[in-house]
Amino acid sequence: MAEVLTGRDLDLFQELKRRQVLKPVSKEALEPRDGVLGFGCGDDRNGRMRDMCRFHVDLQDGVREEPKSFLFAWPGGPLALTPVSPLTGIIVSGNFMEEAFFTIKRMMHLGGFASFLLHAHYPCLAVEAAIGKDALFQTMNVLFAAKKCSKETLLEIPVAALCQFDLGGDDDKKSYYLDREYWNAAYPELLPYYK
Ligand SMILES: [Zn+2]
Repeated sequence: MAEVLTGRDLDLFQELKRRQVLKPVSKEALEPRDGVLGFGCGDDRNGRMRDMCRFHVDLQDGVREEPKSFLFAWPGGPLALTPVSPLTGIIVSGNFMEEAFFTIKRMMHLGGFASFLLHAHYPCLAVEAAIGKDALFQTMNVLFAAKKCSKETLLEIPVAALCQFDLGGDDDKKSYYLDREYWNAAYPELLPYYK
């Protein structure tokens, strides 16, 4: 069980940063003025979930008087929010995506949230069960597919995809914004990282 980024995954992570597929998170771009409704994985090994909760609070610091967050947590997190999810049948049932989007839409309306964050993490126990080790390339692909599906489902709601990476150490968890344009440009050269 991979606890932190190592080996090929660590190499790919460095490449993704170098090629600007992974970018520092810009508060302004994420529209957190009306609070943050996020969807993540509940695994708190090494304090990942605690870091994610702090991240969502910090994201709203200076933007809102009081942070307003609503976080969904399910194994694998937003990677289940696409019809092509490798989690289907292994971690989630076949109708999970429809049920999750139904409740997300309801809670966005009831709580008056105006943006949706897909906040995955890596390494992830659920990803390892569904795909295996060294699965960062596939994880990125699935996360972009989940973002596309979320945009198509939530229509006018702004959607952003983030991923928290665990590099080891108590204070070494970092969340990055995923940029599709740079991913598409880098894709052919990064294909060797496909398992
Ligand atoms: Zn996880």
